[in-house]
Amino acid sequence: MDLDGASDTSLLLVKDDVPPVMEENAAGSSPFLLVCDHYGRAIPCGLGDLGLPESELRRHIAWDIGIAGVASALSKHLDAHLIAQRYSRLVIDCNRPPQSPNSIPRISETTVIAGNEGLTREAAEARRQQVFDPYHRRIAEVIDRRSRGGMPTLLVSLHSFTPVYASIARPWHVGTLYQRDTRLPARLLKRLRAEADLVVGDNEPYAVSDETDYTIPVHGEARGLMNTGIEIRQDLIADDAGERQWADRLAAIFGEIEIELRAQGLLPG
Ligand SMILES: [Zn+2]
Repeated sequence: MDLDGASDTSLLLVKDDVPPVMEENAAGSSPFLLVCDHYGRAIPCGLGDLGLPESELRRHIAWDIGIAGVASALSKHLDAHLIAQRYSRLVIDCNRPPQSPNSIPRISETTVIAGNEGLTREAAEARRQQVFDPYHRRIAEVIDRRSRGGMPTLLVSLHSFTPVYASIARPWHVGTLYQRDTRLPARLLKRLRAEADLVVGDNEPYAVSDETDYTIPVHGEARGLMNTGIEIRQDLIADDAGERQWADRLAAIFGEIEIELRAQGLLPG
């Protein structure tokens, strides 16, 4: 990139813009490291409203509705470090490889994202350098630091999904998502399925792949860490009570999984 391009990229986030990375409980002692790619729906001031009305910017296309409350409460319950992205997935999707055509979506479900049309290479690169990269760099730093300090990392990527997508209703309440490593997903599935009120998706409503996902392949699989994604249906966590219930439920399940892993010698202590 030439110097003009580099100076253009410095203009995306300005002093009124929030930092992309949100962290809670950074000194948490839990082996679980919680990450949340679609936690926030902030948009850099310079991008305006991306050409969308507020009603669209509150929909699932902009963020994972309800997951922020679940993630924060779960972080507290487990004493687990949470790393989350404050900017909307419509600015740049932090769970897509940057080379993916959906990294900066021009259309999401059926909504055209006018502010993402005809982006220059420099404008796309600015979003990557200032929103995507700091988030993933921080996750990598934290995993490295834990590793150096002898602290294990069980990577949990938290998401929520819309109950109806493209006019199709989804029956699952919750799903586990994985690709190459089934150690955590199998333990999670077993316990979720033991709860009589739940319809549980096994790699539903999405499965992880190298083409469509970034966080689990890069931070979990490439490092050989135990990992899982979780998707919770958004109507179940649409208010504080729902968020609390799901955080309580997941905290109890992860607590059991941690005990089991220790008993099986898969975690130190
Ligand atoms: Zn998500």
